[in-house]
Amino acid sequence: MGKITRAITADGSARIFFEVSTDIVSEAHRIHGTSKTMTAVLGRALTAASLMGCMLKDKTDSLTLNFKGDGPAGSIICVSDYMGNVRGCATDPTVELPPNKDGKLDVSGAVGKGTFYVAKEMGDAEPYVGLCDIVSGEIAQDITQYFFTSEQTPTACALGVRCEKNADCKSAGGYILQLMPGADETTVQKIEENIKLIPSVSEAAALENADEYVISTLFKGLEYEIFDEFDCCYKCNCSREKFENALVSLGEKELSEMISENRDFEMTCRFCDRKQNFTVEELKNLLNISKNKG
Ligand SMILES: [Zn+2]
Repeated sequence: MGKITRAITADGSARIFFEVSTDIVSEAHRIHGTSKTMTAVLGRALTAASLMGCMLKDKTDSLTLNFKGDGPAGSIICVSDYMGNVRGCATDPTVELPPNKDGKLDVSGAVGKGTFYVAKEMGDAEPYVGLCDIVSGEIAQDITQYFFTSEQTPTACALGVRCEKNADCKSAGGYILQLMPGADETTVQKIEENIKLIPSVSEAAALENADEYVISTLFKGLEYEIFDEFDCCYKCNCSREKFENALVSLGEKELSEMISENRDFEMTCRFCDRKQNFTVEELKNLLNISKNKG
């Protein structure tokens, strides 16, 4: 389980969402066989999407974070629900790069330059889409930039993943700290100083009471209240029905071609690797549905 803890300063100037995401990143490694670099890339993106997901307003809302850089990782897609339950995938989850000049996993090298977007599906309304340039490719700085330009909210974001030798996740976590409109200037200054006290959020995430430690450090010298905490996990919501709908939407021509091959058709979910098998008979039924729709 991952865990999200949320707190706000007593004067309402700032709020923080902190997450320990070690188990979520570990599960992504297990499913996708991520390399060390990609455990860090996907781990940071999953943690960011999860934290942003729980800013959604409604139970049925969802948030997609999609990095489309020109790096070897390709497209990185993470989808979260409003409780921070998240799933993700990358075009190439096995890319391995030499360490960067600081001796760290080269996240920005794998992501590359380009754009990323945040899409929020909220009920029947048109989805909200915010498009941004990738400013660093380290993901946390990009999220900070997104909140500043697309949501006009001053934000500090930190994301971190430490890997085992075998590329599994040792510890992972992150926070999104935001200033509320009319934030008190002395509070802002204190928080800016406090941020320096946590140089590594992935190390902090490994601590016994990681959430209390991170929040009390970032809000040091300030009165604050932890207003909720909840578990979240790596969770895919794929179903047989969704695969059937996807096949129907391929249309008559494609389905007829598949049927003419006269063998079972297997589909794999890109987020959780679960497989769904369709027999020729089942494909014929779907073709009929497609015909009736058309
Ligand atoms: Zn799935």
